[in-house]
Amino acid sequence: MIKVAINGYGVIGRRVADIVSIQPDMQLIGIGKTRPDYKADIAVQKGYHLYIPEEYHKDFAGTKIKPQGTTYDLIKSADVIVDATPGNIGIKNKDIYKELGKPALFQGGESDEIAEMSFVAQVNYDDAKGKQVVRVVSCNTTGLCRALKSLDDAFGVGKTRAVIARRATDPDDPKKGPIDSVALDPVTIPSHHGPDVETVMPHMNVVTMAMKIPTTHMHLHSLIVSLKGTGVTPEMIANTFAETPRVTLVSSKNGIKSTAHAMDYARELGRNRSDMYENVIWEDSITVNDNEAYFFMGVHQESIVVPENIDAIRAVLGTCSRDESMKTTNKTLSISGPPN
Ligand code: NAD
Repeated sequence: MIKVAINGYGVIGRRVADIVSIQPDMQLIGIGKTRPDYKADIAVQKGYHLYIPEEYHKDFAGTKIKPQGTTYDLIKSADVIVDATPGNIGIKNKDIYKELGKPALFQGGESDEIAEMSFVAQVNYDDAKGKQVVRVVSCNTTGLCRALKSLDDAFGVGKTRAVIARRATDPDDPKKGPIDSVALDPVTIPSHHGPDVETVMPHMNVVTMAMKIPTTHMHLHSLIVSLKGTGVTPEMIANTFAETPRVTLVSSKNGIKSTAHAMDYARELGRNRSDMYENVIWEDSITVNDNEAYFFMGVHQESIVVPENIDAIRAVLGTCSRDESMKTTNKTLSISGPPN
């Protein structure tokens, strides 16, 4: 069993913890946390062991949460660390992981410069073997990489242009949203997402423009992709996406016309926390004109990177092939479609 430690137990860490704990080849040995809040309470109720940095132990005194030790102790016992602390905090932990010789996975909020590689399972799983510092890219970058890899393999992709309407903040955050505005984020072009795709797929040419909108539950990408192949039809693209792992095709014809419907679809599937791990691509939006493909794609920011973290654990340790890993991960998350 791979001994996994998770440092940071927020939107991403909580999800990765739950999914690590149901993998047949992994053991969640503990969680690094700093606050004795309701999330810590529930983690204990789930049977997870909490480890707290030395300087935060005083905050847990007098609560019913009994830390098992320090975060340092946790890291020492692990085979691999998933660092899910907020962006720019993870880098501060890098030296401890290095000192203890533990491979570490960071998240998309960290700069790509802190890692040896930026990871998306479908694109570069094999390159992660033996790496000590890997960055699982952000939600939007993951979604773009999955879709573009699929189109590139099938037809060849020239330029990609995308406008990303981003959720203002996550549903559990009362500080930053909802906003009463369409906030250009950033005003300058490109947003970081296009260059970030190029850290995973260096041969791509992707320009993205992004804004924040008054919603908390999904990002919506409007994509324009120029194809190298000629004679490509919308049906050919839909068939390609239907064969792509972790992409789900939806249609307005069966009532899915918004991100609200896409999230309701996930709820009706009985997904844990109503998570949608797949790219949601509207089949009836796919249009081709002069070798340019257009389509709408939804990205559930809270969950799309969860399967990628699980695969990255196996990838760095080299315990199995990409297809085997994705198959196991998908099965445990009830993700249908290939490979499954
Ligand atoms: P979050 O704020 O929800 O959770 C981070 C948790 O880490 C919090 O509970 C915080 O208290 C804790 N923490 C802070 N400092 C710590 C420390 N030193 N040791 C242990 N725990 C500490 O953040 P999040 O949304 O889960 O984001 C985590 C990372 O994942 C970021 O890099 C982010 O960019 C990336 N990411 C977030 C999303 C998203 O939509 N939320 C999507 C993809 C990737």
